[in-house]
Amino acid sequence: MPENANTASQETNAQEYRFEAEVDSLLRLVIDSLYSNKDVFLRELISNASDALDRLRFQAITQPELIPEGTTLAIRIEPDLDRRTLTIADNGIGMSREELQSHLGTIAKSGTREFLARLEAAQKSGLHQIGHFGVGFYSAFLVADFVEVISRAAGSREAWKWSSSGRGTFRIEAASRAEQGTSVILHLKPDHLEYLYDTQIERLVREWSDYLPWPIELRLPREKSDIPRYRRINSGQALWQRSPREVTREQYEEFYKHLTRDWDPPLAYKHFKIEGTTEFAGIVFIPRRAPFDLFSPDAKHGLRLHVKRVFVMDEADELLPRWLRFVRGVVDSEDLPLNVSRELLQDSRITRTIRQQVTKQVLDLLGEIARERPEDYRLFWRTFGAVLKEGLHYDPDQIPRLIPLLRYETTHGDGLYGLLEVKARMKEGQKHIYYAVGESTAHLRKTPQIEGLVARGFEVVLMGDPVDGWAVRSLKEVEGVPLADAMRADLDLGESASKPQADESQSRSLRERIRKRLQDEVQEVRISTRLAHSPACLVRPTEALPHHIERILRATQPDFPKAKPILEINPDHPIITGLSRLIDMNANEEAINLLIDSLYAQALWAEGTMPDEPAKYAKALAWLLEQHIARASAEEPQKASPDP
Ligand code: ADP
Repeated sequence: MPENANTASQETNAQEYRFEAEVDSLLRLVIDSLYSNKDVFLRELISNASDALDRLRFQAITQPELIPEGTTLAIRIEPDLDRRTLTIADNGIGMSREELQSHLGTIAKSGTREFLARLEAAQKSGLHQIGHFGVGFYSAFLVADFVEVISRAAGSREAWKWSSSGRGTFRIEAASRAEQGTSVILHLKPDHLEYLYDTQIERLVREWSDYLPWPIELRLPREKSDIPRYRRINSGQALWQRSPREVTREQYEEFYKHLTRDWDPPLAYKHFKIEGTTEFAGIVFIPRRAPFDLFSPDAKHGLRLHVKRVFVMDEADELLPRWLRFVRGVVDSEDLPLNVSRELLQDSRITRTIRQQVTKQVLDLLGEIARERPEDYRLFWRTFGAVLKEGLHYDPDQIPRLIPLLRYETTHGDGLYGLLEVKARMKEGQKHIYYAVGESTAHLRKTPQIEGLVARGFEVVLMGDPVDGWAVRSLKEVEGVPLADAMRADLDLGESASKPQADESQSRSLRERIRKRLQDEVQEVRISTRLAHSPACLVRPTEALPHHIERILRATQPDFPKAKPILEINPDHPIITGLSRLIDMNANEEAINLLIDSLYAQALWAEGTMPDEPAKYAKALAWLLEQHIARASAEEPQKASPDP
């Protein structure tokens, strides 16, 4: 430990701070779980240095004075065998006193917090070794027992030193630094002196940081003269500018981790170069896991944008439609101006061309995974399928490209199936691809509305995602075969629909009687061709929203108009034939009313809807049970009696 770290003094403004509680636990967890992966610290610190250089060069576009003449922007690694320190220095954007205090004393990134939660969960389940991931600056304490950070913010003349042994507190005091930027000085633990050796440092940089566009230089051993000399150890060509043939999978994966701070490798990636009227290169990645804010309306998304190699901005959302917000990556444009702003991006023709091309690249990549790696595609679909489906609504032009990528549960089996597969399985004479939208696929599998379709051997596509209800409206057809909503009144069963058996006049009086009783609840009573085992079901008029969506809307807006459903009855069902007989016999009016109420209530329950007056229907059901029990005990007194 250097002597001056212990001497608090007025002139240096030294002040001691406590780490935020989470930092303490992060530090502990990092050290416990990464003990066999200590190498990551170098990647993390070089990655921070590279970001700092990116940000400085970007700011210098409008403030060129931030980079003094003659400056070469670079990352420098300086091992010092005598002091047993390893320094990672950059002449990038630097940090002010306040920034040192907040960036290196708290966990500012929500992603890191999420990581912490997962790490804690992994540890509780006894999983200690979780591989590489982006833990950032704090990974320095994997190999160092004392860390100093000397930083000078670009444009400022003050420099500050942050220092800590990683236990509870850190300290900030005035310091000096010749130019803008940051030096992270690691006082290596006695058992980690191997990181002072050139061969070890070079190996790690080659392996993990070679793609970074900034020179990474290693300080040569001191000779007689005190002027430090350096040797460049990375090739320094931006990864996306290289030929894909020269880049290994490991390099893409490392680049992905640098870009996203994800700790898992990506599920897939695609590297492309577009030449023509608009020129750009890029790499898109599909992550394995969803970010915690995938469905939050203000979740950031987009690609990292470079212009002629210069980093311009992160999360340039104009380069990617929102329904591809799970994609990560980088685009480097030859045509955009260097001082491009978010506003300028919004109405630039070049941006539109890039977005179209990127969309095509991503959809091609997904198609490739779907064809060649079905297991991975299922993982993708479960994670991001609901987002991709938004594209049906927002980008109808892309529907032909999206159709082969969609997957659904269907009544065919337990798997996930593509719509082209469903189409290929259509029965002779089947004119539509049938689908049902509801609250969950488990629910839909049992819904009476589709039982007739299933009984006829038609496959029904089950849509239980919240997005399905509106996304499917844009779909309309699959390669010329129209889609048909199985929950709708106008369902066309084609020629296979058998004519209702019941005699016409009899069915009319039955329907009228039911309609009279339910006139406030249903708009019409029809003889059904779609039911197989159930006595009745409710179907939606053609223009109405799916019932579960209407229910959600009505829960928040009580005035939202309620579409009156149509009650379909199964003319062959014993309840219906029996009811019809009772009506013809002029049976007790009140009893018939209660039977009709119960019939209606069970149709509501089957679709998961609560009646407006639940007590009324509960009473009808109780009456029915009473009747049944009274009759059963009269018929079989010996069985019903508790004491024979
Ligand atoms: P992350 O890099 O994921 O944000 P870190 O813990 O590695 O998390 O760093 C926290 C913050 O500290 C960074 O976001 C950055 O603002 C700042 N920082 C770290 N290293 C440097 C550096 N070399 N130069 C400038 N700022 C840095």
